[in-house]
Amino acid sequence: MDYTARERDADFLMNDVFDVQKSWAEIEAYQELSSDLIKAVVAEGGRLASEIMAPLNEVGDAHGCELKDGEVITPPGFKDAFAQLTQGGWLGLSGNPAFGGQGMPKSVAGLIEEMFWAANSSLFLYGSLTVGACLSIDAHGSAEQKNTYLEKLYSGQWTGAMALTESHAGTDLGMMRTKAEPQADGSYNITGTKIFITSGEHDMAENIVHLTLARIVDGPKGTKGISLFIVPKFLPNEDGSLGPRNGWASGSLEHKMGINGSATSVINYDGAKGFLLGEEHQGLGAMFTMMNYERLSVGLQGLGAGDLAYQHSARYAQDRIQGRSATGAQNPDAEADSLLVHPDVRRMLLTQRAYVDGCRAFAFFAGMQLDAAKHKGDEQADRFGQLLTPVVKAFLTDKGLEGAVMAQQILGGHGYVKEWGVEQIVRDARIAQIYEGANGIQALDLAGRKVVRDGGKTLAELLDVLAEFEIDPEHEPQVAQAFARLLRASQSMVARSNEDANLPGAVSADFLDLMGMTLCAWAWGVMAHQAGDDDFGLAKKQTARFFFARLLPRTLGLEQSILASSDVLMDMPEALFNA
Ligand SMILES: Cc1cc2nc3c(=O)[nH]c(=O)nc-3n(C[C@H](O)[C@H](O)[C@H](O)COP(=O)(O)OP(=O)(O)OC[C@H]3O[C@@H](n4cnc5c(N)ncnc54)[C@H](O)[C@@H]3O)c2cc1C
Repeated sequence: MDYTARERDADFLMNDVFDVQKSWAEIEAYQELSSDLIKAVVAEGGRLASEIMAPLNEVGDAHGCELKDGEVITPPGFKDAFAQLTQGGWLGLSGNPAFGGQGMPKSVAGLIEEMFWAANSSLFLYGSLTVGACLSIDAHGSAEQKNTYLEKLYSGQWTGAMALTESHAGTDLGMMRTKAEPQADGSYNITGTKIFITSGEHDMAENIVHLTLARIVDGPKGTKGISLFIVPKFLPNEDGSLGPRNGWASGSLEHKMGINGSATSVINYDGAKGFLLGEEHQGLGAMFTMMNYERLSVGLQGLGAGDLAYQHSARYAQDRIQGRSATGAQNPDAEADSLLVHPDVRRMLLTQRAYVDGCRAFAFFAGMQLDAAKHKGDEQADRFGQLLTPVVKAFLTDKGLEGAVMAQQILGGHGYVKEWGVEQIVRDARIAQIYEGANGIQALDLAGRKVVRDGGKTLAELLDVLAEFEIDPEHEPQVAQAFARLLRASQSMVARSNEDANLPGAVSADFLDLMGMTLCAWAWGVMAHQAGDDDFGLAKKQTARFFFARLLPRTLGLEQSILASSDVLMDMPEALFNA
């Protein structure tokens, strides 16, 4: 499936919109980063995405994965493409340099992750789970664990997986039953069954390192009794070579709606040897330290899907001729005009584009907060990163799917049949709203933990900081109104939550949407101001006009909806749901 990496957009965000060199100058670890180096990295990442990964997107969907004699076989070509991804050091792009990582900012890595997700989300999943495992081991591992695992994971010689979910314990991990029995040698025997484990078993690396949540026997009940373990497929010898096969196996592969090239396994642990990662009973906390990074990445999966869908539908709309313009024939020599003459088709294209570009900009800003928190110990940036993360995860994946469905609509019946590939984008994009914390949980996290809990203080601070950016004068009043609306909605939510425990959950989805729209408004205000007068800049300015005139007004309805009490949801007796 054709995909063009957004190198120019990456450059625009880094240099014109956010002036990253200025922020990086204050960070010791980024002193060596020149704009030429970053430009070369982005260009090479884009080449890999469009030339190596994208051509395998349909192949992965058509072939899927196969389980044969306990081994999972990935789609044709995946192994070679993954080797190119790993040999280029892409899995360690923002990894710890002490163990072979490249130490790049997460904000920059995010721009490249978006390209990999867009090009082939199934293939990149094998890499992104490895990146996630590295984050946990780097943050919580002993020196020995870091030495044993990090270099091999960054290089892709081994890959990672996260094993949390059980059939009866998804969102509510406190109910998990997988148990860990302490052994005399300090290791643990892990027994239980996990489901839905992405990259849990496959044929692309010589070893697969599971980070598995389990309950140490006789440990506390609920989430407080859960610990995190490293449970590799092959137990490493002291010299790092592969030892005996560990006691876990893929019991079956899940049959899915999309991301068919990604192997999703049921994993049976049968007394498998596990090594405690971090402290006993602190497993959930250890998983959560990497969540902000992972959730940012899954948000970028939604963004990538949205952009891929936009690119396809924009090309299609230009080529497809159907009907005549309302103002008279635009292409009288042809039998009909292109789809682009129809205002409603333009509405769909501009909606897609407005969300893709707006979301990319505020996701980049969120990445900058994570970088500043990590390398400067910036307490405010840390809070901003935490506040923005659920919005990036949920808003980008929601809009990614919405955009993909619009692209499908632009193709009409050709969007529904397989031949043109857009239906695959719709099927592949859907999962990003569900895993890594379903979007309803992201909204609850935002409304309850990130806004109500601190009385809206961090949100108000964030809006103050965002207001310092130069906004295009044409859109300045609209951005100011959007900020005021979000602030009012947050104050109302905070005040009413004191009296009504259901309130944050009742309004959370609309609140998250309102915040995502407001961040898009800010991003468009800033981008329109920085855009030049070439085609790239003019397209940005036009899209900004569309966003402010046609999409931002939706926030009026969202504010109104947030003012409703939780009674309209909670008064309905349970029995009536099936009446
Ligand atoms: C293709 C795929 C890949 C996956 N990869 C992995 C993986 O690699 N590792 C792994 O461990 N897991 C993985 N998962 C599991 C995924 O993270 C879970 O499916 C997800 O966390 C939701 O859990 P659940 O399916 O049990 O849904 P449930 O927890 O039953 O939730 C169902 C719905 O109820 C809502 N809900 C639940 N509790 C609350 C609440 N307290 N407040 C408000 N709403 C609530 C949820 O938002 C959701 O919409 C994967 C799943 C799929 C389908």
